[in-house]
Amino acid sequence: MVKYSIIIPVYNEELVVKETYKRLKNVMDQTDGAYELLFVNDGSRDRTLDILKEIALKDVTVKYLDFSRNFGHQIAVTAGMDYAQGNAIVIIDADLQDPPELILDMIRKWQEGFDVVYAKRTKRKGETFFKKQTARLFYRVLRASTDIDIPLDTGDFRLIDRRVCDQLSSMKERNRFVRGLVSWVGFKQTAIEYERDERFAGETKYPLKKMLKFSMDGITSFSYKPLKIASLLGMLLSIFSIGWILVVLYLKLFTDSTITGWSSLIMTTLFFNGIILMMLGIIGEYIGRIYDEAKNRPLYIVQEAYRMNEEQNLSLR
Ligand code: UDP
Ligand code: MG
Repeated sequence: MVKYSIIIPVYNEELVVKETYKRLKNVMDQTDGAYELLFVNDGSRDRTLDILKEIALKDVTVKYLDFSRNFGHQIAVTAGMDYAQGNAIVIIDADLQDPPELILDMIRKWQEGFDVVYAKRTKRKGETFFKKQTARLFYRVLRASTDIDIPLDTGDFRLIDRRVCDQLSSMKERNRFVRGLVSWVGFKQTAIEYERDERFAGETKYPLKKMLKFSMDGITSFSYKPLKIASLLGMLLSIFSIGWILVVLYLKLFTDSTITGWSSLIMTTLFFNGIILMMLGIIGEYIGRIYDEAKNRPLYIVQEAYRMNEEQNLSLR
């Protein structure tokens, strides 16, 4: 029986997988139970898969899933959870920004009886000012817009208990925001703090476009507030407009001065059109996600599942 599962999503990480494997191996050998290192290859186009195959040939604790294309980080993590067999499941990035040694502390907390142990970043090294600030802002906006308690400055690096993992696997929503879902399921949760290291090698696999999609997923999955803001803004603007109409009428009917035409007209038209289009866009974000759900496609497609569900190959320690 496997006690610990480590899920490692990898996307074009040929420069780091080997080192990640070594560090994880070193840490997990200090634990008290059998473990599996479950790599999820998210459609890498470099040598990542070849390296994984090499490692897996020599080590029976290594398993991997190979996606048919790139499905995204959150989906890769989800697939890992679907296949993980351990009683405690750890999710960790492949780039060693999250120090594997922390897993030992997480396991200790788990043994004390916590179901979720998440790692909170007190510092982030080696990331751009822009990334740090936008991430900071995002976590705060997210927190302000949802009713569930999503911890600040916390990534997906965390340990979850079997029962949390089972709950998450039963939620098949498509535009997934895993760390929010973990908060949503509840159970006994606790944090440990750490300083986030630099990437071991390579560059971030989260360009701005993916980050924006990710943050929209986070907010739309857990909040209707953007829609409420739209209706509130609409209401305020209507009230303001009625007041303004009264002023204009008064000037026209009871005084000699009228407000001259073109500039004021074009200003209000442009302003209101901008607001309307923006609000339609927000509604569109939600409708697009409803559409994704309605299509009901599988979350991911696995083209190879190496050493999965093969009891005899599990760690023999
Ligand atoms: N990743 C993935 N699929 C993607 C993008 C990223 O599996 O489409 C993996 C990546 O290999 C890494 C983790 O997700 O293990 C986090 O990505 P990254 O370190 O690039 O993000 P950052 O730390 O810069 O936010
Ligand atoms: Mg990283």
